[in-house]
Amino acid sequence: MNEAFAPKIESAVESFRTLLCQQLERQEKMEKDSGAKDFSKMEKIVVGLVPGDGIGPILFRETERVLKKLVEKELASGKIELKQIEGLTIENRLALGVSVPKDTLDAIKECDVLLKGPTTTPKGGTLESANVTLRRELDLYANVRPVTLPEEGIDWIFYRENTEGEYVLGSRGVEIPGKLAMDFKVTTDAGTRRIARAAFEYAKNNGKTNLAIVTKANIMKKTDGNFSAICHEVAADYPNVTAEDWYIDIMAANLVNKEIRNRFQVFLLPNLYGDIITDEAAQIQGGVGTAGSANLGDRYAMFEAIHGSAPRMIEEGLGDYANPESLLRALEMLLRHICLTSAADRLAKALNETAKEVVVTGTREGATCRQFADALLARL
Ligand code: NAD
Repeated sequence: MNEAFAPKIESAVESFRTLLCQQLERQEKMEKDSGAKDFSKMEKIVVGLVPGDGIGPILFRETERVLKKLVEKELASGKIELKQIEGLTIENRLALGVSVPKDTLDAIKECDVLLKGPTTTPKGGTLESANVTLRRELDLYANVRPVTLPEEGIDWIFYRENTEGEYVLGSRGVEIPGKLAMDFKVTTDAGTRRIARAAFEYAKNNGKTNLAIVTKANIMKKTDGNFSAICHEVAADYPNVTAEDWYIDIMAANLVNKEIRNRFQVFLLPNLYGDIITDEAAQIQGGVGTAGSANLGDRYAMFEAIHGSAPRMIEEGLGDYANPESLLRALEMLLRHICLTSAADRLAKALNETAKEVVVTGTREGATCRQFADALLARL
């Protein structure tokens, strides 16, 4: 080895030692965490409202009208309080040079659940994605994304691990410039166990019998290998759910194979594979504008569309033609999470009917965001 690299290697080894210690601490903290909040027993639930950037505020305006109509009674009785969260705009975040300003984060932590519009992350620079920060700060470990296509019998739900994998140390890799670069992927036992438990509980409580554990454990033997092994340990507590191992590459192919895709029900995946494959799945459902998602932790939960702030739509003057179904589907998940099941069912039914009648394409040929919401409200 060229001796000139010795100081670089020493410094990389030192930073790796720090990373290992920090990740072990994170794992130990997770082991001590004490289970999820029971919303059915709460007297008051605070819902934080974060409109976001780009098309976010346009979708949000309509979704907020629907929310207020659906929880009219709970707002009047004080069971639900809506709290406007200021400051999570790209202008403010860039001006302050932080991904989530401290005041905003403090206000968010006073809420139980959040409804959030998409937030812009600039390319390059050092500003971390607001979502990555919020997932870490609020420990939102389960990214849950349903995808349905009733005409094909598809009713999928994805449980993506949201706080580990390639993402947790994504900006802390090491490099010997001009020679090599290395990033780190982390899987902790406690982190895997809690996402696996969430997915199997969902399967059990919703009569699902098939759960696909999707990894690349043949190649990533330590991280994905452990992920798969721990998921199977958890599976032993759920005898009515068949857990099958799949590799991510063939699963990506399975989702576009009409012959077999409707046999899958629940998917359980590490972070990166979940990120990629859920966009593929949303496209199968009818586009990212139709899909909502939940970010769940034991203490907090955040609900949002799966897409981003669509700056190109804004530049082209198409913001009013953005599809609000994505954020409305997220609202449905939020209502279910806080145990307002009948409001969620009403919204789901009205959404299914409205989507057949009012088609929002994201272009001037389709209906507007407002027209979709008006038609939906008329059904509620
Ligand atoms: P994007 O998801 O914002 O948009 C891609 C394209 O999808 C749009 O140009 C549009 O054609 C279509 N689209 C998206 N939402 C739609 C809707 N509701 N109705 C109709 N069409 C819709 O992806 P991008 O352009 O890659 O990202 C833009 C910004 O959003 C980036 O800064 C990115 O970091 C951020 N982002 C945020 C989140 C989040 O906050 N959860 C998620 C993804 C991306």
